[in-house]
Amino acid sequence: MSLICVSSDSRSRCIVVLAAVLLLLPLAPTQAQSPGTVLQTAIDSLSAERMLADIRTLSGPSFNGRQSGTHDDGQSAQWIAQEFLSAGLRLPNIRNGSLRFPFIQGKNDTLLGAMATVVPTSTISPDPVLRIGTANSLSTRQVGTDYFPIFDSPSADIKAPIVFVGYGIVDPAHGIDDYAGVDVNNCIVLFLRGQPEHYPRAVSHADTVRFARERGAIGYLTATGPILHPYDIRRGVTGSPSAFYGQLPLDQAIPGAWISTALAQELLAGSSTDMPDRLRVLQERLNQAPSSQATRTGRWALLQWKTTTEEGTLVNVIGMIPGTGTETVVIGTHRDHFGRPGGILFPGADDNASGTAVILEVARALTTIDLRPSRTILFISFSGEERDLLGSRFYTSHPIVPLHSTKAMINIDHAGVGNGRLTVGMTGLEKEPLLEAGKTAGVQEKLDLYGFFPGGDHVPFKEAGVPTVTVVSGGVHPHFHRPTDTADTIDLEILKTLTRYVLAVTWQLAYEP
Ligand SMILES: [Zn+2]
Repeated sequence: MSLICVSSDSRSRCIVVLAAVLLLLPLAPTQAQSPGTVLQTAIDSLSAERMLADIRTLSGPSFNGRQSGTHDDGQSAQWIAQEFLSAGLRLPNIRNGSLRFPFIQGKNDTLLGAMATVVPTSTISPDPVLRIGTANSLSTRQVGTDYFPIFDSPSADIKAPIVFVGYGIVDPAHGIDDYAGVDVNNCIVLFLRGQPEHYPRAVSHADTVRFARERGAIGYLTATGPILHPYDIRRGVTGSPSAFYGQLPLDQAIPGAWISTALAQELLAGSSTDMPDRLRVLQERLNQAPSSQATRTGRWALLQWKTTTEEGTLVNVIGMIPGTGTETVVIGTHRDHFGRPGGILFPGADDNASGTAVILEVARALTTIDLRPSRTILFISFSGEERDLLGSRFYTSHPIVPLHSTKAMINIDHAGVGNGRLTVGMTGLEKEPLLEAGKTAGVQEKLDLYGFFPGGDHVPFKEAGVPTVTVVSGGVHPHFHRPTDTADTIDLEILKTLTRYVLAVTWQLAYEP
């Protein structure tokens, strides 16, 4: 038996991998079939209908949008663990320190396949309010169409004038102060998402909120500008507000909302309608060169909602197929989504019940074949991805097998919508095995192979030096982070194409010598 102990914050956790048990596994290379035939049989066993049923379950009302850290996170984790077991995966015994939560009990005070940590978890009560107008006459705007509260922003009960502050960047060393010329003390600022191309540093949303708070703003509105970057157009970015976490500690945050581009344009058009394109003009100037375009809009906003923040339990679920060697391949995907903030359900069918269904189906296919992989395959269902990769970061800081012997991490996200092509990002690997997998799966004509794919649970693995493969269905995902991301929008052909490929890649990395 090998024993791996890890520590986190005040808690220490010991993770026990029952290697001795694994040696007793009955799997052995078959004499009857060649490995190529075995793989084809596995590929042929994939069922898109079974995956769609899993997507319907995960995105259905019983898991309530799977917000990480909530009771629903724990419920969906238990469901995955049962599905892993039913598929024939082994669940490692994992010790979670003094942390207690309902799960399948293992031996000696361990849980089977659950790795958990405590995270502050915010929920916004139903019926948030945003009203816009003049100081004396405000009209109510529609949540979902006109705005979403930032889902972890503090409770709001404010009314103040709105001041436009460009992209909201303050960096005097690079000649940018988007607040120059205006006083925003006790105001609500409006800033655009992203940053101008001429600005050389990366600015996060958290940075822009900090700048606003430092200047005395008591709240903010943020919107996608009318001028889109070509990359955003390819991704299908629209002017609609998106579900979003600000990821600031509560003592640094101020209330905020993501508003539609149309509403932002209305705010800049002022009380008359003779400047309908004013926001576009201001964004053009901001994009051309560093220059403050800050201006008072003459409009007011009222923000009102109640946020409750409590300690929650974030759960990653791990299943495994033991290999004959000492190395490991991780196939991971996030399970969490945005839950039901403000009373609005975010089903998260494409994002990422679809990826979860993919790894379940790959597990079912690989456990039925009569051949043991050369490398242990770890199937990981991450939580916390929507909250800046909390779950995958927790795993890479507490891996159950050493990261230096983790040969690769395969990440699947957004697997069921798009143009029918597969976007594959890779780091630290040769192209050949990934192209070969495309041929084996019969999908080589649909592959678009790139380098690093920005964003996702592969990022902490890449940062830790583990080679990564990211598989995403190509093209526009029109329901991205919207309440309309439902199981009815999933395309079975896309789901099947992607799963065939993921199975073949897993084979390349885990079964080939
Ligand atoms: Zn996702």
